[in-house]
Amino acid sequence: MLSDSEFMRYSRHLLLEEVGEAGQQKLKEASILVVGLGGLGSPAVQYLAAAGVGTLWLADFDHIELSNLQRQTLYNMDNLKHSKAETAREKLHLLNPEVEVIAINQKLGADNLVEFVQEVDLVLDCTDNILIRQELNQACYQASKPLFIGAAIRFEGQLLALNPQYEHGCYRCLYEPNIGVQLNCNNSGVIGPVVGTIGLLQALEAIKYFTGTGTVPWGELKLFDAKKHRWHSLQVPKDPACPVCGVKEENHDHDNVK
Ligand SMILES: [Zn+2]
Repeated sequence: MLSDSEFMRYSRHLLLEEVGEAGQQKLKEASILVVGLGGLGSPAVQYLAAAGVGTLWLADFDHIELSNLQRQTLYNMDNLKHSKAETAREKLHLLNPEVEVIAINQKLGADNLVEFVQEVDLVLDCTDNILIRQELNQACYQASKPLFIGAAIRFEGQLLALNPQYEHGCYRCLYEPNIGVQLNCNNSGVIGPVVGTIGLLQALEAIKYFTGTGTVPWGELKLFDAKKHRWHSLQVPKDPACPVCGVKEENHDHDNVK
C-alpha cells in the first residue's frame, strides 16, 4: 500500500497506465546495486531515488574532486574530498527519505561482488573501468541478475542491457578481458551531457524493467554518436565458448553435435 504522501509524490507516475499504483508498488519493492557514482551514476541514482525505487545500494570507494564537477552533478563545491558513496546517500535521503540508501564505501572486485549482487534485483554498471565491468558481468551471470552497462567517452556513449535468463551474448562475448591500455574519461575526456544521457537511460531501462513497461533492449549494444546525433544498435552474438555465459563444462551434450 502506498501512503498519502507517496500518492502525492508519485502522482505523475500514477497517471500513467503503464505504471499506476501496481507499478509504483513494484518500484517500492525493488532493489538496485549501482556500482560507480561518477558521471553515469550521478544522474542514474537521482532519478531512481526520485522514482521511488525502494532500496539503492551505492558503491564507490572514491572521493569527490574538482575535476568531477564538470559532469557529476550530484555533488557541489562543499563536497570536495568527501566520500562519493556517503555524500550520495545524504543527498538522496534529502531528495526522497522514503528510499532506503545503503552506501558501500569500498572497492568491489571479484572476491566480494557476488555477495552484493545477490542482495539486489538488478545491477547498474556505472564504472569507467573495463576490468570491473568484466567482473560485474561474471557476478551477475553467476547470481542470475540483470545488468545494465553504461559507458561514455569523448562524444560517444554505449548502453547494454544483459539478462542471464535470455540467450543473447554477454559482455565477455563482446570484449576480451585483456585489451591493453583502456581509454576512459580520465585520459580521453568526455562531454558531460553524453555521460548524463547514458546514465539516465540506465535509470529509464531499470524503471521499465520493474514496471514491465515496453521492451528492454536485451542483448542489444546501443551506440550513441553525439556529434552526429545518431544511434546505432547491434545484437551481441552469444559465443558458445564464452567462459561466463557459454555452455557449462559439465554439460557435454554439445560435443556430440559438433
Ligand atoms: Zn558470454
